[in-house]
Amino acid sequence: MQISKINLKNNPNLTFIANFLKPYTQRAYLVGGSVRDMLLGLELFDYDIEIYDINIKDFDSVMQKLGAKGFGKNFFVYKFRNFDMALARTENKISYGHKGFEVKICNDEKLGAKRRDFTINALMINIFSGEFLDFYNGLQDLKQGILRHINDQSFQEDSLRILRAIVFASRFNFKIADETLNLMRNMDIKDLSQDRINAELYKFFQTSYLNLGYKYLQELDLEKEIFGFKGDFESLEFQNLLKEARKIIKDEALFLYLYLNFFKLNKEVFFKKTRLKKEYLKKANQAFYLNDIDDFELAKIAFDMPLKEWLGLWDEKRVEQAKKLKLYENKFESKIVTQDLIDAGFFGKALGEKLQELKENELKEYIKLNKNT
Ligand code: ATP
Ligand code: MG
Repeated sequence: MQISKINLKNNPNLTFIANFLKPYTQRAYLVGGSVRDMLLGLELFDYDIEIYDINIKDFDSVMQKLGAKGFGKNFFVYKFRNFDMALARTENKISYGHKGFEVKICNDEKLGAKRRDFTINALMINIFSGEFLDFYNGLQDLKQGILRHINDQSFQEDSLRILRAIVFASRFNFKIADETLNLMRNMDIKDLSQDRINAELYKFFQTSYLNLGYKYLQELDLEKEIFGFKGDFESLEFQNLLKEARKIIKDEALFLYLYLNFFKLNKEVFFKKTRLKKEYLKKANQAFYLNDIDDFELAKIAFDMPLKEWLGLWDEKRVEQAKKLKLYENKFESKIVTQDLIDAGFFGKALGEKLQELKENELKEYIKLNKNT
């Protein structure tokens, strides 16, 4: 193990918590995702702190004094502002399921780090001294972009780690190590509740490398299990679409928009099965054109929204087209007044149809005029 130091002094959040904890212990570490993200140069939103050398009872009163709140069923974990603080612990699998662990206080950093899922998530920095602990070669994996599990036996005890791996891979564009992928192939996610699965899916939908996450979902035979569908021969084309579209469209509904429309899945059935947020259904119902789209079709989408909000505006060509039509920033403002049609005697379905017809004519005029200016 290589030990060096990392300077945390210019982080006022950490200085505050270090000053508070100083009277009680000399071993408190920044751990988990916070260390990983810091080393990746990302902005930190949460700080995970692992604490040694305080017993459970004293820890509780120290946390009370700080005004931290104990949360979950796990009495070791406290929240204060954006800090998660916990006593160092070991986990021992005693029963089925994601939560079937016996938890014990531990006194040894290497043992404390062993319960973590991946080497890149097991790095530790002492918040007082800056001492950097890397028991499982996490720094090297971080530099090489590899997700590697820490321990064969304990890794398999929690199937949530499969989904976590996929989320990290597609968030950071990391490769899952072969030996980890092999273990994952022998695990299954049947013990996970739909809520748990969805919580990870929501994280996945926000990632930058959707194509990579999707590839792993397929490779691990999880697509069928999670989505109730399996994309086959077309999946390379689909992966490519995911990759290219993501460069332009940052919206978290992009994955489902592309997935459901590309494979022409029944959206109602899909949302019933997965119970994913209905907001996504609305977005997945936006118009979908796999191939080139002409000006009129594109402009029609702008009846409802400025084209920069359309999830299908996924390549530069379409962006240019939308800008040329001057419908990129603003939606198409129709001058047709519905009341005039009602006054003219239209109602019900006929009213809707007439309105659409007039608006489309108006739009055609608009496109013609726009071309000539
Ligand atoms: P994110 O950036 O999504 O929050 P994270 O790595 O910080 O990712 P958290 O769920 O916040 O993930 O957990 C913090 C740390 O706790 C992780 O970095 C990891 O070390 C450990 N951890 C969380 N969940 C698990 C798990 N299911 N198995 C093993 N270790 C876990
Ligand atoms: Mg976190």
